[in-house]
Formats: sequence, structure tokens, C-alpha cells
Amino acid sequence: MAIFIPEDKILEIKNAADIVDLVSEVVQLKKAGKNFVGLCPFHAEKTPSFTVSPEKQIFYCFGCGAGGNIFSFLMKTEGLAFPEAARSLARRYGIDIPNRRLTPEQKQRMSERESLLEINRQAMDFFAQALRRGASGQSAMAYLSKRGLSSNIIDRFNLGYAPKGWDHLLNFFLKKGVPPARLERSGLILPKKDGRGYYDRFRDRIIFPIIDVNQAVIGFGGRVMDDTLPKYLNSPETPVYNKSRSLYGLHLSKDKCRQVQTVHIVEGYLDLLTLHQNGIENAVATLGTALTADHVRMLSRYVPRMILVYDSDEAGIRSALRCIDIFWKEHVDFSRGDVFREEKADTHILVLPDGHDPDSYLREKGPGAFEKAASHAPGIISFLIEQSIGMHGLSTEGKIRIVTDLKHPLSAINDNVARSLYIKQLSERIGLEEKIILEKVREDSAETKKRNIGHKKNYTDRMGSRLEQQIIAMMLQFPDILPEIKRNNVIEFIENPHLQFIGKTILQHQFSSVEQISGLLSRIDNPEQQRLISALAMAEESWDESGCMKLIAQFVKQGQKRRDRQILDRIKAAEKENDQETLNSLLKEKQKLAVQSQRQHRA
Ligand SMILES: [Zn+2]
Repeated sequence: MAIFIPEDKILEIKNAADIVDLVSEVVQLKKAGKNFVGLCPFHAEKTPSFTVSPEKQIFYCFGCGAGGNIFSFLMKTEGLAFPEAARSLARRYGIDIPNRRLTPEQKQRMSERESLLEINRQAMDFFAQALRRGASGQSAMAYLSKRGLSSNIIDRFNLGYAPKGWDHLLNFFLKKGVPPARLERSGLILPKKDGRGYYDRFRDRIIFPIIDVNQAVIGFGGRVMDDTLPKYLNSPETPVYNKSRSLYGLHLSKDKCRQVQTVHIVEGYLDLLTLHQNGIENAVATLGTALTADHVRMLSRYVPRMILVYDSDEAGIRSALRCIDIFWKEHVDFSRGDVFREEKADTHILVLPDGHDPDSYLREKGPGAFEKAASHAPGIISFLIEQSIGMHGLSTEGKIRIVTDLKHPLSAINDNVARSLYIKQLSERIGLEEKIILEKVREDSAETKKRNIGHKKNYTDRMGSRLEQQIIAMMLQFPDILPEIKRNNVIEFIENPHLQFIGKTILQHQFSSVEQISGLLSRIDNPEQQRLISALAMAEESWDESGCMKLIAQFVKQGQKRRDRQILDRIKAAEKENDQETLNSLLKEKQKLAVQSQRQHRA
């Protein structure tokens, strides 16, 4: 793991490798203009939206948003971490990488991310050993076997035990010379209230290491063995752990998922382990959070069909409505060049009968019954129809309520064919004319359109405005303009933090041609940012000097206006508060900005 790959070797690999060659081994590519296209290896599709640019040495899928360079492609297709991907490419192109361990000096230079992953890896080993040692380890092991888990599953998922006491893990790392501050960033220890020292976050709990598809240990879940609360405790969000983007067990289920084209999604660690133990290995668990759009996007790289498993009707309904919301969000229609496009997943809801959870159901009825129930699980809309009928009955009153329940989910489906089929289904099921249902759905669509405007704003906050995206696309595709970008302090006016970071990185690294996009990608390890870069670099636009200058002027003017408005607001607030000191400094700032913008206008 802790192997250092020198920068010049990475450059050498990049110069030797060709993305079209590499991708061709997995995807059948066809020439299309300057680029090559093929069927995306990361999501199921029938028409090619996976695009490879030999000029930029990057790939981008307009279907699922996967994107990156040679290294990311290998990491994604073979489930490798960056150093392994680099090694594998080096081997392929006969480039020699010295195989040396890190010196203490290099260790310091190791990026924070890698050092956190290394800490997690060592903590996982610590917990695993604690489970196999001493009296308390034995009682933890006894608890797991009482829950019916085999030693094979315990090993496969690297389960562990966090010993009773306040500082076992802390001392383990202190002895290795790991600074407490770094350990704190991993979320494994917490500072004491009085500020004197630290203590272990996980104490006397079964530990479930959370491992991503690149085999990196990104966080932990801990469960008590009695009735203590909280029953479950997870690592906090860290630079390597984001729970809305992590799925428990995906690293051990992805191959099976690809093979059978279906995934079961459950809510708990133990449910997931029971499924795997019963041979149902195409299963993952969400980590103390409802299914998110990011989860769906991740899973749709492996499977077209998802089955969400719940232990109660209410949980099932909540989730079904949420899924519609997720898909609807992803469906917001944007013009060409925007980052996400429509994503469809065939999603089903399975509510286990009689309050069973997957664990108790499998124990009582066995895997055959589970798989049969799963294969009959209704789609989201059919599920909602049946639930609504169950709730309101088929009296006239009941039918009115059912249509009211269903009008929003139905209007949210923006595939016309699918929507009319579901309306037909509802009409037949409850014996009400299609025309009447359609009318209700149209009413709701009109309301939805109004809401859509608010929605677009949220989406914009996350991905940056269209204009911000265009600025970055221009910087990537027409680097001649970079001196102008610098001179006008354009980056300062970018509000979206991802885009701002990308802009800064481009300027810092003296980026000067589109051939360097792939190099830029190796410098950025945030997947969201990688995807943005690939998307914006690939968007078809033609740039010329005067068009670029216009765009910059428009953007800067807008940014200055916004900044002036913000300062005025603050000045008004200071006046109201009679805060003379703040007022003076704000007035000075206002003057300085006025001079600055005048100078820019003149230049
Ligand atoms: Zn794709």
C-alpha cells in the first residue's frame, strides 16, 4: 500500500500509454469525428454514449457521467487503487518503477488521503486481532456466532472488535508514532471535553470495516452487543469517507452484481452479512442513510435492476417516494453540455411479510423463498398503487384518494410511454377511466413545473451555474485564454467550490494545451471534480478569442455586481447596528473594489 510512485514515472507512463488502446481491450470502439464511441462499461446501455478522446487522452460517458484518464479507467474497470493502476500500466509498457518502501521523509509527503487510508487499514487489523484474542474478544466472537455468522463470513468482511476501555486503539497508534491530530482526522479518536488528550470513539463494539471498490478501508461501523444506545455508531465524514456515496459490501458483491444484473439493497450490516452467507452475494447495504442519487448512480454502473428490501410497508413507501424523487431530480432536463443526463434504473420494492427483516426471514424461510419473493417484487409505481389500494380500499371515496396519492408519482415520470402505461395499469386496477386519471396527473404536472424552477437552483448550487461551467470548459479547451483569466481574477468570482478548485489548479500548473487534461486529472483525486473536468473537457464547443473575451467580460461583470450587492448589504447591516469600526473597514473595501474594477474596465 505505502508505495511511492515518483512524479516523473507517472509522466513517463502517461506518455507511453494510449487511452484508445487501453479502452479497446474492454470496449469495442468506433470512430466518430475526432473521438471514438462505444457502449459504456460502467452502466448498461444499448446506444453508445461512452466517448474517448485520443487528443485529450480522456474518456467520458454522457450516460452515467463516468470520466477520467488512463489511470481512472483502469482503477474503475479493475477495481484498483491509484498506485496499483500505475504499476499495472508501467508493467504493460515496460517502465521500471523502483520498488522501495517509504522513508520517514516521504511518509510526511504522502497525501492526507493516503495517510488516512493507511491509518484505517491498520485500525482494521487491530480490531480484527482484538476479536481473536482475550476473553472479551471471545465473547464478541460468541455473539457473532449466536447471530448465526460463520467464521468464513467474519473473515471475508474483516469483522473486528473494539475492546472495552478508553484508549486501546489510541495507545496502539501512539506506540507507532502516529500524531494524535492525524488520528483525530480519521474519526477513530475524539478529543476529551477538558481538552487534555483523546479517547477511542469505538468501545466494546463489533466493528464492520467499510471498504470501497478499490479495496481501500474508508471508515467503520460499530454495533453494541447488548441494549446500549446508540445501537450503531459510524465513522464521521472524513476526507476519505462520505456516507451518501458509500455502500457497505459493494467491494465483495460487484462481480456477482454484474453477472446477474441485479442488486439487493438492505439497510443494515447484519442483514447484508446474512444475505451473503446464504449465497445471495449480489447485495449491498446503505450506511445509516436513505438511498441517495449518488448511490443509484454508483450502482447503475454495475446493474440495470435494483431491489430495495424493507421490513415494513411504511419504510417501503417512504423509500419508493424517495426513489421517484431521486430519478426525477436526475431527470431535470438540461441543455447540451450539462453534466448529468437521464439515468434509468429498473427499481423494485420488496417488503418482507409479517415484520420480518432479511436476517429473520432468511433464517425462517431460507434463501430460496427470499429469491422468489425478490423476483416478484413490484416496481416502484406498482408498489405504490397496491399500497394505496390496501390503505383506502376500492369504494368511490377510496378511488379518489388513490388517484390523489398517485398523481404526483405519475406526473414525475418524464418518459411519456412509461407514464401512459402506468396510467393504464392504474385505470384497469381500480376501474376508473384513464381520461380522469390523466387529467389529475396533468394538474400535478403544472404544479411540478413551477417547483422545477426552485429545483434547478438547488442543482445549480451543487454543480455551479451554466456560466461557471462554461468558464471552466473554456479554460480546458482553449488554454490560450488563461492569461486573460488570470488578469481579470476570474477564479475569484466562481462560487461553486469544486469549479473554483479546478480553476485554481489549472492556473497553478501552468496548463497550456488540451493534451495536458489527462495530467490535470492525475492531480485531482476528488471523483466529483474528476467527473466535472471530463464532462467539461468533452463538451462540444468551438472557441475563438473574441467569444472568449465576451464570456469573461459577462462573467466578471456579473460577479462584480454580486460582490457590490453583498458589500452594500453588509454596510446597511453595520449602519443598523451602529458598528462604526466595521462600517469604516467596509467602506474602505468598497472603495478598493471600485478602483480595481475601474482599472479592469480600462485595460
Ligand atoms: Zn456510462
